[in-house]
Amino acid sequence: MAASKEIIPEFTTEEKRNARVIYNRLVKLYPEMGTALAYDDAWQLLVATVMSAQTTDENVNAVTPVLFERYPTPEDLAGANPEDVEEIIFSTGFYRQKTKSIIALAGDLVDRYGGEVPMDRDELVTLRGVGRKTANVVLAEMWNEPAIAVDTHVKRVSNRLGLTEHTDPVKIEFDLMGLLRKDQWGGASMRMIQFGRDTCDARTPRCWDCALRDRCPFEPKTRRPTS
Ligand code: SF4
Repeated sequence: MAASKEIIPEFTTEEKRNARVIYNRLVKLYPEMGTALAYDDAWQLLVATVMSAQTTDENVNAVTPVLFERYPTPEDLAGANPEDVEEIIFSTGFYRQKTKSIIALAGDLVDRYGGEVPMDRDELVTLRGVGRKTANVVLAEMWNEPAIAVDTHVKRVSNRLGLTEHTDPVKIEFDLMGLLRKDQWGGASMRMIQFGRDTCDARTPRCWDCALRDRCPFEPKTRRPTS
């Protein structure tokens, strides 16, 4: 994978130790971790990840079998009639924009990469519809490459746990890279996403039931609701 031009910040031994404890507890909570998106290969994972914006993985999984049966290869999807694709992926929301993105992305793959998904972030982000987060999901999930995908859950959980002071996803990504070992990067973001969904909810975090409570500077912590 090509080297990034950004510089990974330095952290103290204590800060790294704290991040390691947090990571180990997340591993204990989620021993096996991977995307919930269903896919057979890099092409399907890339399309499914683009389609997962603003919806759940379950919603995406409900339509991708039909989509990939109709358009099994990038060549097939690049030549698709947008209205037919819109009809298939309608239930995932933002279907017009997503249709445009995945058809354009398929065209770029065919024109520039012979229909193969490149295993390189700098190349992936040149594909229309593919941002850094999507590229990192594919790299970590498909090829076990060290890459941290920062979505809204990773952003929130990292901030609350004091692992970063930034709100910019790229800066958060680099802070996490500086705090964790390279072999932990991919697994860390997947686990933080799940932890954000299960426990550290955006509106009502379950602080009373949180395995990271003693490590978390976030205040005020929530209390168990009384019935
Ligand atoms: S204590 Fe609360 S805010 Fe902190 S990580 Fe746990 S759920 Fe999130």
